[in-house]
Amino acid sequence: MSERPTIVPVVVSASALTKVYPRGREIVRALDGVSFEIQRGEFLAVLGPSGAGKTTLLNLMGGMDTPSSGVLRICGQEVAGLSDRDLTRLRRERIGFVFQHFGLLPTLTVGENVALPALFAGRRVRQRVDDLLAKVGLTHRRHHRPHELSGGEMQRAAIARALINEPQMLLADEPTGNLDSATGDTVINLFHELHREGLTVIVVTHNATLSAAAQRRIAIRDGRLASTPGAATTNRPATALGEPLGASYV
Ligand code: ADP
Repeated sequence: MSERPTIVPVVVSASALTKVYPRGREIVRALDGVSFEIQRGEFLAVLGPSGAGKTTLLNLMGGMDTPSSGVLRICGQEVAGLSDRDLTRLRRERIGFVFQHFGLLPTLTVGENVALPALFAGRRVRQRVDDLLAKVGLTHRRHHRPHELSGGEMQRAAIARALINEPQMLLADEPTGNLDSATGDTVINLFHELHREGLTVIVVTHNATLSAAAQRRIAIRDGRLASTPGAATTNRPATALGEPLGASYV
């Protein structure tokens, strides 16, 4: 892989962000002028009813899609100025993604699934795969295929895969949505631990425990930011909360 990316204090900066989709003769304003910042080391929950625009926002923050208008900076880079190749590289090297449905490739073992994003980046990562599997408690599952795993194990494998390229932020879309509450709690604990180690964690969730675990919450309704109890409009960096930033993910 190329040299390690520059570390910036503001990992996401959005100004008057919009995303519109055509639907027949109409257009859907999935995001309708959203502005906010996310500081390095934050643990942020994105809340809101179904159809509010949460996934659209997460996809934009993850460089999976581009805004219709407004300014979006991810890890210091303005998305509008990036070629497809540079956007792919940004996504691969700086962002880890976790999905509700895990997204593991069924024909690969757990270890191979975890290693895959690194192979695309041209990195040799045997030791890191070992370390990450140990971290998520799946060392004994390394040679198993996803269908042999429980839901919680699949999600922990997906989190290990998301971390393989040492991203600057971890984005998760309803990561506990397919898990029972006890299993979901183990995944929430893992997010908590990663945040404590200094990783920026951003989750879209309906899960009250996960939302409560986050350091800050923002709510979206009809494509706009809505105020919620505890949804501070100012951003407080993790350092201001008295939690030291760990070295592992920054
Ligand atoms: P949420 O994640 O909060 O449920 P979404 O971001 O998925 O909301 O969707 C916000 C709105 O945008 C919804 O009305 C949805 O139907 C619409 N939408 C999302 N993606 C597309 C798309 N690819 N094409 C057309 N409409 C879309």
